[in-house]
Amino acid sequence: MRIGAIEAGGTKFVCGIGNEHGELEDRVSFPTEQPEQTLANVISYFEGKGVEAIGIGTFGPIDLNPSSESYGCVTTTPKPGWSGFPFLRTIKEAFDIPLGWDTDVNAAAYGEAKWGAAKGLDSCVYYTIGTGIGVGIYAESKLVHGLVHPEGGHIKTRRHADDHYEGNCPYHGDCLEGMAAGPAIERRWGIKASELPTDHRAWEYEAYYIAQALTTAILMLSPKKIILGGGVMHQNQLFPLIRAEVQQSLNGYVSSEALRSGIHEYIVPPGLGSNAGLCGALALGLAAMGQ
Ligand code: ADP
Ligand code: ZN
Repeated sequence: MRIGAIEAGGTKFVCGIGNEHGELEDRVSFPTEQPEQTLANVISYFEGKGVEAIGIGTFGPIDLNPSSESYGCVTTTPKPGWSGFPFLRTIKEAFDIPLGWDTDVNAAAYGEAKWGAAKGLDSCVYYTIGTGIGVGIYAESKLVHGLVHPEGGHIKTRRHADDHYEGNCPYHGDCLEGMAAGPAIERRWGIKASELPTDHRAWEYEAYYIAQALTTAILMLSPKKIILGGGVMHQNQLFPLIRAEVQQSLNGYVSSEALRSGIHEYIVPPGLGSNAGLCGALALGLAAMGQ
């Protein structure tokens, strides 16, 4: 079985082909340009490859409601040309096969539940901490949608007592993304996040904000695994800091061994590594075929 996968990011698109076991046989990447050009590249990549379905995990926000006029579009992005562009329809016109369509983070959560760190579990939450912060939610063996889809990167945060950075979310200022995504770290300290020393205070602040979000997720959703991906999480020292902060803020209230001695297996990096998004898109393609 050959399934196509598209991980559509604001900076780059990754396309690949894989099978029903989550094994990728090919993977290409190109920069995100205007949608006409970018999707033409996507279509020419899949042409003649004999894929039976394609799954798309995309940057958002997106319209997931099949009865809506803008279904299959990215809705409110500042990315030139993409807002309202018929993304899904363009792919459908080129390939009349089952198509899966969801956010990049829901895709990653799904891929992790099927083949990665949450394999065998019926729930997990996936965070990407990168240029922005996004959250995918898998609960009771289904991806969570609603009015639109979860937007847990923009929840309100309580400011760290010593932090005077005003926050840079264009909508909310000091929401989680405005305080803790890569660009917020870089603006707060005036240095690239990847160049900050591992013992810099920045990581204490970062763990503080991420742990707040995770605490909320644990209290609201009770997920069986929390997976943290994205460029900022390449800073491995964040994991123990975040775990300790979560334990401190929960203060023993939620009674689960996963939050005590098991916490290092509860808050984890993606089991699929940098393929979480692409494998997730593959899983969406399979799901579109009813598998
Ligand atoms: P995107 O979110 O655009 O898909 P990434 O997940 O790679 O891409 O996130 C990019 C962000 O992550 C940038 O803001 C960058 O500062 C930050 N980042 C990338 N690599 C590192 C690193 N090694 N350490 C800390 N931050 C990093
Ligand atoms: Zn925000």
